[in-house]
Amino acid sequence: MSGIIAKVAFGYVDDMQIDHPLAATVRRIAHGSLAALVSASMVAAAPLAWAYESASPGGEASVQSASARQLRLSWIGGPTLRLSFGPISIITDPVAGASFRMFDPNSGQDEVVHQRLGTAIDPATIDADYVLLSHDHPDHLDEEAIGRLRDAAHFLVPAGQADALRGRGVANIDALAWDATHVIEREGYQVRITAVPAQHSESSEVAAALGRVNGYWIEFMAEGYERSLYWTGDSFYVEGLSRWPRSPDIFVPHLGAVGGGGPFGQVSMNAQQAVKFAEKVAPKMVLPIHHSTFSLYREPISNFVEAALEHPWQLYLLREGEVAAIE
Ligand SMILES: [Zn+2]
Repeated sequence: MSGIIAKVAFGYVDDMQIDHPLAATVRRIAHGSLAALVSASMVAAAPLAWAYESASPGGEASVQSASARQLRLSWIGGPTLRLSFGPISIITDPVAGASFRMFDPNSGQDEVVHQRLGTAIDPATIDADYVLLSHDHPDHLDEEAIGRLRDAAHFLVPAGQADALRGRGVANIDALAWDATHVIEREGYQVRITAVPAQHSESSEVAAALGRVNGYWIEFMAEGYERSLYWTGDSFYVEGLSRWPRSPDIFVPHLGAVGGGGPFGQVSMNAQQAVKFAEKVAPKMVLPIHHSTFSLYREPISNFVEAALEHPWQLYLLREGEVAAIE
């Protein structure tokens, strides 16, 4: 076990062990998922330095000294990640409510209420200057989040989805076609956001029916600091379609295996598919989201933890509300 860093990522769980030489203590979440932070830094060529900066109440994270020029990441559950970099703040696919109602790809039933599991979120965390939308589905943008963000935030959305959002009261929107870039500059900080192809199903027919999805390639630059992040959105690795500029520092895949066994098949990745995608991307760090935190998700995160153990990237799991600073 020497050389392995491990940290429990969720507070409301029981102790458990994964039977693997690289595994450290992991814990079981009440609704059946496992979560752990397992860093295989002994095999990573150049592990990314990181620190937990704060945690939700009762959490185990410690306060670390933080340089101003750091990217800070906070997972708010589901597809919602808050990124802050100096004076620039960005929130991905904001979902603020305790539940959302939509078609259930797992059962084929209409109008199913999908509950948020685990920690209730602080609505004040649904706050940013920019909203990055992978696609306009109810599990990726709810009315509560629109209500909090529509007046002040600048929305970046997939091609063809701006008019519908204007109709729901969003004032400031730019649609980004695949390969288009939006640049934000403030006080010596620059964030470059490029839309990259995403596909909501491995079947192109199902994907066409589900509509356009954007993934995003995001670069964070300030004097002496440069980090890159590739957020997949609801996508799979699709040969001939998936593309990104280079290996990123941080890869953020959507897991959950939503729709597995349902009438249209999977509409988000399972562990094996996400590992395959990560192998192609070759990041330094993988931070999976879109798992465990809503009843919609089908696969425990333990599947990904176990599948990821053999790989050279660091695996990084956040608890909802926890803030990680990337040095
Ligand atoms: Zn989704």
